[in-house]
Amino acid sequence: MSNKPKIFLLSFEIVPTADNQSKSIVESGYTICLVCSEYPEDAYRKAKFFVEKADWKIIKMNEDFPPFPIEVTEEALSENTENLRLYRSAQEKGIAIDYIVAAKEGTGIQKPTMLPHKPSYQFDLNNSLKRQKQLSDKGRCLHYENGEVCNEVINAHSIQKSQALSAIAENGHVYMPLGDINKGIIYKKRGIEKQASTFLGFCKKHDNQLFEPIDNLPLIPTEQQVFLYAYRSLCRELFVKQNAKDSIDFVIETTQANKAIKELNAGIKIGTEFSLKQLKIHKQHYDDSLKNKRYSDIQYTLFISKQKPNVVFSGLLLPDFDFSGRTLQDLGNHASNLELITMCFAPMNNDEWGFLLAWHKTSSKVCKEFMGSLATRISQSSNVGDLLFRLIISNCENIAFAPTWWDGLTEDARTHIKQRAESMVNMLTLVKSDYLMTGLEGIVNWEFTNVICN
Ligand SMILES: [Zn+2]
Repeated sequence: MSNKPKIFLLSFEIVPTADNQSKSIVESGYTICLVCSEYPEDAYRKAKFFVEKADWKIIKMNEDFPPFPIEVTEEALSENTENLRLYRSAQEKGIAIDYIVAAKEGTGIQKPTMLPHKPSYQFDLNNSLKRQKQLSDKGRCLHYENGEVCNEVINAHSIQKSQALSAIAENGHVYMPLGDINKGIIYKKRGIEKQASTFLGFCKKHDNQLFEPIDNLPLIPTEQQVFLYAYRSLCRELFVKQNAKDSIDFVIETTQANKAIKELNAGIKIGTEFSLKQLKIHKQHYDDSLKNKRYSDIQYTLFISKQKPNVVFSGLLLPDFDFSGRTLQDLGNHASNLELITMCFAPMNNDEWGFLLAWHKTSSKVCKEFMGSLATRISQSSNVGDLLFRLIISNCENIAFAPTWWDGLTEDARTHIKQRAESMVNMLTLVKSDYLMTGLEGIVNWEFTNVICN
């Protein structure tokens, strides 16, 4: 892959809103927005949000510019130093905007002026981060028999440590994605003992007792082992989602926000509450099976590789689109219950490892269609490694990369991975129905020698 990340140019005609700090002197103006994005419609949504967030009302697209976002190159902008600065800033930060405004009569300012960017909305980053830290430090045992016995909640690994994280680590460290308020997702080195993939979702007793068959033994696979891999992914996601809900409630309660931010936060809250409700329903199904030792309620497909692992992960998804771009279930329909599939890296015997896709039988309708579309794409000679890598980069934030592998990738490959991961979590980007069909080819080079299903 040699194509550079795309940068789109668009321009809005604007007037200040009542919250705008420059409203007493500014009559109207226009923006120059440069947006890093895969698609023009996403560039438009992102630019619109940032302009409205900065207390401007958008009147229409600026008629001196094309009526839609157009892709621009660094060369095309190279004659104008300000445009070039904007372009590089968009490359680095994902978006860059200049506001060029005309002053009101009587202010004595004649020429159109470039305005410094000063939105009324100030996000209290420190406060919010402190809150998130408090929430993730608040342990609780998610075992179905939780209660008085759970006296010591531990930092449990959601990705197996002894043979998964340690298999890819270098000096005890791996790369993991972290959300950054200004830079989107960044990949940082994390220590595998205490930082990487841990969560306070089980007490010591229950964690040891329950996950012993997968923490101390390689994947055979038995149905019990597969069940436990899937269950741990689900519990970790539930833990994270509960914190996300508390966190957005806190943000809404404690921050002064303008209309654009309020609408965004309200949307996040509705989405988070709906996902949390879905995860609780699934956990109930898993708990019922677990209590009765009905491990055969789990269904799975396991791809086995003999290669040295370079990426390890644990996650899940409510499949909305399949590998051929068809709709499987509508995530926007909050009246329905959605089916769920889990994805885990699992160490196996003889230095092999498995890419495990597993689902509870109550999710078999959607998951079988999802897996069927994967099988179809493989039979049409799509590269299995590319399909599975695309799946986890798009859906799994609980993922770790071997430092030697990550550092050896081209800058472009790293940017494509980052962009794909961001596009899937960004509230301002619509998930495309064909997101599992293309992208990220030729980066990982996974080969699988065998496939097992139950
Ligand atoms: Zn417990």
